[in-house]
This record gives sequence, C-alpha cells and structure tokens, in this order.
Amino acid sequence: MNAARQGGCACGAVRYELKSAPFDAGWCHCRICRLTSGAPAMVFASVPAGDLVFTAGADKVRRFKSSDFGHRLFCGECGTPFAMQVDHQPETIDFSVATLDEPDTVEPGFHIFYASKVAWFETADELPRHAEFRRDTRGLGGTKPTH
Ligand SMILES: [Zn+2]
Ligand SMILES: [Zn+2]
Repeated sequence: MNAARQGGCACGAVRYELKSAPFDAGWCHCRICRLTSGAPAMVFASVPAGDLVFTAGADKVRRFKSSDFGHRLFCGECGTPFAMQVDHQPETIDFSVATLDEPDTVEPGFHIFYASKVAWFETADELPRHAEFRRDTRGLGGTKPTH
C-alpha cells in the first residue's frame, strides 16, 4: 500500500486510495469551495475517474449538485468533502488534497478563482493566479461555465 496515495475523512468511516499519481494540483478560491469546506480555500488535484477508489465506507459517501456543471462528494457521517466531479471533465475526478494521509506529497501549482479570494487570506507562493478558470482548462472548449 502506498501511504502517500491514501486518504479519508474526519470520522474514519470513509477511506479511499488513488490508483495513479495525482496531477493538476491547485488552489481554488471559489465560494462553493468555501461553503463546502468551511475554510477560505481548498486544494484539489486530479486522477483518472476510475482511479479514486473508496476502500471503506463507500456507502457513506454522499453527493450533491454544487453548481450547474458539477457534483461534490462528502462523508455522510462527518461532512468531510472528498471530491468534485465536473460535467465537462468526465474522464477525471478532482479530490481534496488535504484529505490525503500525507498531503505534503502533492504540491499545488496554481490558483484559480483568485478574483473570488477572501481578502485576508494569502498564501506564501509565486504560483500563477488565475481570476477564474485557467485558460487551458480541459473540456471548456472556449466557453466559461457560470459559477
Ligand atoms: Zn466521515
Ligand atoms: Zn472552488
């Protein structure tokens, strides 16, 4: 078992494992991330859709429609937000890096929805800061979903 690729929720009911190395790790400062996490921002990374496997408590995982283009997955027992599925990126799933057992192993490489950032929250990095989505976001095809 690769400890760096396992994670879970606060109450321990749900555990997951990543079957491949995460990519596209980045901060998101959007309001939906704030509401679902109760924190000023979240860090997500992606794996192919089938590569996030729930190894315990899969029946406890709940999902809700968090925007007109996506769903969020969370522990139905304790509320820990695990992941996000975006309609225009069906081939991947974005998971919350902070829920990994060893989150130090996945470093964010950019910020999105920086224009929505909480004024008093800033991270000490020189990473690219995008006002909304990155210009090259997979699946957008030049359009911009509402949020
Ligand atoms: Zn839980
Ligand atoms: Zn967000």
